Amino acid sequence: MRPETRAVHVRVPVPDSTPLAAPLYQTSSFAFDDPALLAEGLNHPDRGYAYSRFTNPTVRALEEAVTGLEGGTAAIATASGMGAISLLLHGLLRAGDHVIAQHTLYGGTHAKLRDLADRYDIGVTFVTGHDPDEVRQAITARTRVLYLETIANPTGHSSDLPVLAPIAKAAGVLTIVDNTFVTPLFCRPIEHGADVVVHSVTKFLGGHSDVTGGVAVFADDALHRRVWEHAVEFGSVADPFAAWLTLRGIQTLPLRVERHAANVARVAGFLAGHPAVERVLWTGSPDHPSHAVAETYITGFPAPFCFDLAGGFDAGLHFQRSVRVIKLAASLGGTQTLILHPAGSTHRQLDEQQLAAASIGPGTIRIAVGIEHADDLIADLARAL
Ligand SMILES: *Cc1c(COP(=O)(O)O)cnc(C)c1O
Repeated sequence: MRPETRAVHVRVPVPDSTPLAAPLYQTSSFAFDDPALLAEGLNHPDRGYAYSRFTNPTVRALEEAVTGLEGGTAAIATASGMGAISLLLHGLLRAGDHVIAQHTLYGGTHAKLRDLADRYDIGVTFVTGHDPDEVRQAITARTRVLYLETIANPTGHSSDLPVLAPIAKAAGVLTIVDNTFVTPLFCRPIEHGADVVVHSVTKFLGGHSDVTGGVAVFADDALHRRVWEHAVEFGSVADPFAAWLTLRGIQTLPLRVERHAANVARVAGFLAGHPAVERVLWTGSPDHPSHAVAETYITGFPAPFCFDLAGGFDAGLHFQRSVRVIKLAASLGGTQTLILHPAGSTHRQLDEQQLAAASIGPGTIRIAVGIEHADDLIADLARAL
């Protein structure tokens, strides 16, 4: 089945029929007549349901839906995107191990790797993600994980996954890819060699700014089993209601991301031609530094992107207050268009040099384009500019 069909055919059978909507099993535990079946449920990720920290029918329906969309073999749904990322890094690494990561990472992931380095002496080598030799040279006997993102924040950077994943595999190194910004509609990292794909389902998969969640999808059953055993103890599992909301969102994922991508293209084109805008950094544009690499394995660009206001810091502050349809908020992937002025908000504590190192200018604005009518967004932007 194609993703558009998979996304709407979620199955949680009950005796003799299958409900069209996945039922919500809002229960923490399950009662048994047969003690042997209870023991099975507590010891296997894919047998009966015993206790919802181990697994739950609604949560499993979400895991199966995302597994199907990403082309994996199994998944673990978690309480947040960071819940999935932390679970993987804690579950796959030991003290003294080594990670290779692209230099532009989600802030929470960056902080997690720094924390692991401090606590457990886990070495991290950052790479550009565009140069296979850089990765070959970074691999040591202790390297366990290559960590990439399909499209990264705020620069729209994309690593060369199809080239780097086989290099990692040949050295026995697992490749983890955060696909939050692209979605399985536009890239399925497992087809390009990834061993694990993670999502913050808080973003496009949930899609309606009403749920916090995450998921890790595995290319291999043995690896899933290994991490599942850790997941039961780590405890960052998805709540059934959050999973249920995410399942509802996923049914319209294909429709929504097509619209996000079309709107992003319109908005990026408008901004690129506006005299108050100095620069637009959208990976979908042929002049973006990662465009040629991204085009080899990513077919659509619905992700947030950045642009620089010619008026710098003050223009950035003023711009945030001037939009009306567009909302000032963190996050992305919901129905509504959101903006952030990182230098004046999320990155306020950094000086100009630190900002430059993070590729953030004083007048940089991040925009996560929603699914409104593009003309209304452009009119709002034109007035604010
Ligand atoms: C938001 C986000 C995360 C973290 O997800 P939460 O659900 O907020 O924990 C991880 N990676 C990327 C790329 C994100 O955008």
